[in-house]
Amino acid sequence: MANNTGGGKKVDIAGQRFHRLVALYPLKSRYINGSVIWRCHCDCGNEIDVAYNHLVYGNLRSCGCRKKEHDKKLPGFLTHIDGTSLEAVKSKKIPTDNTTGYKGVYLIRGKYVAKIVFQKKQYYLGAYADIEEAAEVRQRAEEVLFDGFVDYYERWQAMAAENDGWAAANPIKIQVIKDGAEVAVRFWPELAAV
Ligand SMILES: [Zn+2]
Repeated sequence: MANNTGGGKKVDIAGQRFHRLVALYPLKSRYINGSVIWRCHCDCGNEIDVAYNHLVYGNLRSCGCRKKEHDKKLPGFLTHIDGTSLEAVKSKKIPTDNTTGYKGVYLIRGKYVAKIVFQKKQYYLGAYADIEEAAEVRQRAEEVLFDGFVDYYERWQAMAAENDGWAAANPIKIQVIKDGAEVAVRFWPELAAV
């Protein structure tokens, strides 16, 4: 595995595919952790900028179009899995107590604090002078946790539909791993990627 995660020399991933995303070229700007940001082309035609780490090690699978497709397929009723409400995960609404206009970003003592609630637990993602930076951190966490969960849940459901009794014997377990402002998530039972 390449030891480079950003700051120093660049790992050339131009032309490489990561699920629906294909890396095009590196940008001059750096992500907050120093990671190189790559302009990527998505199969749907959109282009987005993604930090190297998120592309190579993250759960990012598309520009966001994949989640939109999932959202249409998910049931409209309230579903709770291991303490996570699918309705809450799907919601893109900004709560009324939010004053910054960015979901999960709050102005506290002159700094923009990013937080995310997942499985009824709140994860602190850091305090930033720059509102855009806080919003970016929050957005990445949302993609990793929420999109990751929606994606996993769909595969879990497919297994459950095919095998009688499998769902009861294999309840979903979720573990969030937090390292500073970065979050990652693991799911059990382990299922093959689609
Ligand atoms: Zn897309």
